[in-house]
Amino acid sequence: MLEKRQFYIDGQWVDPAIPNDFHVIDPATEEACGVISLGEQADTDAAVSAARNSFQSWANTPLDQRVALIKKLGDIYSARRDEMAEAIRAEMGAPIDLARNSQWGAGGWHLSGFLQALEKFDFEQKMDADRIRKEPIGVCALITPWNWPMNQVVLKAIPALAVGCTMVLKPSEVAPLSSLLFAEMVHEAGFPAGVFNLVNGDGAGVGSQLSAHPDVDMVSFTGSTRAGIAITKAAADSLKRVSLELGGKGANVIFADADEKAVKRGVIHCMNNSGQSCNAPTRMMVERSAYPHALEVAKATALATEVGPTTESGRHIGPVVSETQFNKIQGLIETGIREGATVIAGGLGRPEGMNKGYFVRPTVFADVTPEMTIYREEIFGPVLSIIPFDTEEQAIAMANDTVYGLTNYIQTDDDEKRLRVARQVRSGMVETNGVGRVQGSPFGGYKQSGNGREGGKWGLEEFCEVKAISGVPIG
Ligand code: NAD
Repeated sequence: MLEKRQFYIDGQWVDPAIPNDFHVIDPATEEACGVISLGEQADTDAAVSAARNSFQSWANTPLDQRVALIKKLGDIYSARRDEMAEAIRAEMGAPIDLARNSQWGAGGWHLSGFLQALEKFDFEQKMDADRIRKEPIGVCALITPWNWPMNQVVLKAIPALAVGCTMVLKPSEVAPLSSLLFAEMVHEAGFPAGVFNLVNGDGAGVGSQLSAHPDVDMVSFTGSTRAGIAITKAAADSLKRVSLELGGKGANVIFADADEKAVKRGVIHCMNNSGQSCNAPTRMMVERSAYPHALEVAKATALATEVGPTTESGRHIGPVVSETQFNKIQGLIETGIREGATVIAGGLGRPEGMNKGYFVRPTVFADVTPEMTIYREEIFGPVLSIIPFDTEEQAIAMANDTVYGLTNYIQTDDDEKRLRVARQVRSGMVETNGVGRVQGSPFGGYKQSGNGREGGKWGLEEFCEVKAISGVPIG
C-alpha cells in the first residue's frame, strides 16, 4: 500500500500539522491501495502563505522562463506515463488502457493546447491611448474531482502557472494519488518553491478553508453543483473570483436522418469511463419514427459493453469510483423502475459473476418521461435514458428542460438543421455528428453547469485580472 501522508508546501514534502490518515480505496477490489493525510487549517494556512510569498516574483518571472518550465513538466509527464496511468487506475478504477490513453492523454493534450494558445496570447494590448494588460489574479485554490483527475488538474494548474499565478491544489480525497505524482513532477521540473503547493483534504476541511481564505484570490473548482454552491457561499465574504465547472445532463438529439452509427456512438459515449463524465450524453432523444430501431441498437450496444477488471487490457469499462457512488446509482436505477421506466438492458446489482468491486451493469431505460428522476438528475454511472420526440421544436425544448447546460449533442444529416438546433440549445458546448471539439476550444457550462471556461486562451483568461493604464505614451 502506498504511504503518501505528506503535503507539498513551499517546495518541500512536509508532514501534516496533525496526523489524520485517510485510506484511498481501489474501487475494483474494495481494498485500500494508499494512505494519505487529510489536512487541517494550519496546513491550509502554510500552503496559502507559501503561495502568497512566492507570488510577486513568479508573476514577474519572464514568460519564456515560465513556459520553459511548463515544457519541462510536460516532458516529465510524458516520461512518467506508466506511473500516472497506474495511479489513476488504482485510485478511481479506470481500466488500464483507458488510464494510459484517454485519462493520461487528456493531461498532455490540454498542456500542449495551452502552449499553443500562449504563443498568440496578448498580455498587453493597445486601446486608443490606453494599455490594456492581463495580469495574474494572484493566489489560486484549485479544487478538483476524481473522475478525470489529470484532465482537471492540468486544465487548472497549467494556465495558472503560465500567466504567473501561484496556487494550492486540493485534489479529490477519493483520488489523490495522481495529483501527488503530479506534484512530484512539478518538483522535478524545478519550479520555484511556493509557486505550486498541494494539500490533501476533504470538502468540509481543506476545501472549505481554501474557499473562505482571505488570502486566496480565486477558487477554480470542478465538481458537483452542490459543492459549487457551497464554495460560492464560502467565498462570498472575501469576494474572491469563483470559477465553476459543474455537473451536466447532456441531451443527445438524434433525428431520423442521422447516420446509422449515431445511436451506438451515443451509448458508447454515455458508458465511457463507467458513465462518470460531466459531459456524458445521458438523455438520448430520438425522433419517433426512428425510436423502435434505436431501442434495439441501444440494447444490443449496452449488452455488448463488457465490464471487467481494471488491470486487464481491453475495451471494457471498470467499476464506479466508490461505494457511495455505487449505492447512489443503484438507488437511481431503482427509482427509475419505480417511476415506470422500462429497463431494456442492465438493471440492478453487479454484472453476472462479479461479487466484489463497485461494478455496475450498463443500463438502458426506455419509456422515460421528462418528470422522471432519472431524466432530471445527474446519475454519474453507466445509465442511459431514451425518450422519443416528434418535432424539432419539441426536441429543443426537451434538451433545454434541465437545470444543467454543459454539453448537448445533435445528430442529423441536414447541415442547416444541425446548426439551427445547435444555436438554440442552452449549453456551453454542442457536439454534432460525433465530431469532438478541437484542442484549445473552451470547455464550460451554462446555467447550473457552472460559469467558467477552461482550455486554450479562455482558460488562460480565467486566471487573469484586466488592468487599463492611461497617460503613458505607447511607442
Ligand atoms: P464533489 O463536488 O463531491 O467533489 C469535488 C471536489 O470538491 C473534491 O475535491 C471535494 O473534496 C471538494 N469539495 C466537496 N465539497 C466541498 C465544499 N463544501 N467546499 C470545498 N470543496 C469541496 O464532486 P465529485 O464527486 O468529486 O465529482 C463529480 C462531480 O464533478 C459531478 O457532478 C460531475 O459532473 C462534476 N464534474 C464536472 C466537470 C466539468 O468540467 N463541468 C468535470 C468533471 C466532473
